[in-house]
Amino acid sequence: MKINVAAATDIGLVRDHNEDAYLVQEPLYVVADGMGGHLGGEVASATALETIARIVADEGIGALTDAVRQANRAVYDRQATDVEVAGMGTTLTGVAMEGSKLSVAHVGDSRAYLFRGGKLRLLTQDHSLVGEMVREGNLTEAQARVHPRRSALTRALGISGDIEVDAFEVPVQTGDRIMLCTDGLSGMIEDRRLQDILKDGNGAAETCSILISEAIANGGLDNVTAVIIDLVAEEGDDPASAEADIAFAEPALLSEQRGNRRWFKRRNRKQ
Ligand code: MN
Repeated sequence: MKINVAAATDIGLVRDHNEDAYLVQEPLYVVADGMGGHLGGEVASATALETIARIVADEGIGALTDAVRQANRAVYDRQATDVEVAGMGTTLTGVAMEGSKLSVAHVGDSRAYLFRGGKLRLLTQDHSLVGEMVREGNLTEAQARVHPRRSALTRALGISGDIEVDAFEVPVQTGDRIMLCTDGLSGMIEDRRLQDILKDGNGAAETCSILISEAIANGGLDNVTAVIIDLVAEEGDDPASAEADIAFAEPALLSEQRGNRRWFKRRNRKQ
């Protein structure tokens, strides 16, 4: 199996900084969406990615979840000691591939999706006020998309010294496409349209650039970031069972706890 990866980020049309960041350090792929006035957001997402990159490089992908906890601590400590970035935070959604196992670690409202057999499936839960309202049946996805408090997060890195990380594993196979993105993508393009774009048969790089262009064409209200990871068959691979095996196991949640409802941070929608 061969892995084709592409990633792209864009400032969008409204913001004057790009506070999103991504990391491609095979077999580790991460997106982060920073927040916090002036330069805080950029520092938060960069600090988180630097920390996670270093720890996973040193300790291997088995340390993914712990690396997210340490990234949280790094962002938290930095904002506590540097008045210029006080109060900054970041989302973080990361995956690491080991054979046919995809490990996911997730905090915030960035997203990981799995595209298989023509169907797009969201792997992560948004740790946001509207995300909780949708899960509780009090809001539709369409209403969430335009809700005035759609940016309010219930969990993010940097807000307290401890963090609850959603960590789980998903079995993957040849033919799968994995997409990581920030809310500047998922908030500007509906899931059904995302599915159509992923279905189009373009390669990872072309798909990334179509996604970013379409988010901008739809208004580009936020920074926008996408990572596409294609699991491609190679000569000599065992025949893939992908066609017959469209249904797949529920991701096994190793740890999932409710978000911290006390913390609702309003991110700057525009400068
Ligand atoms: Mn965003």
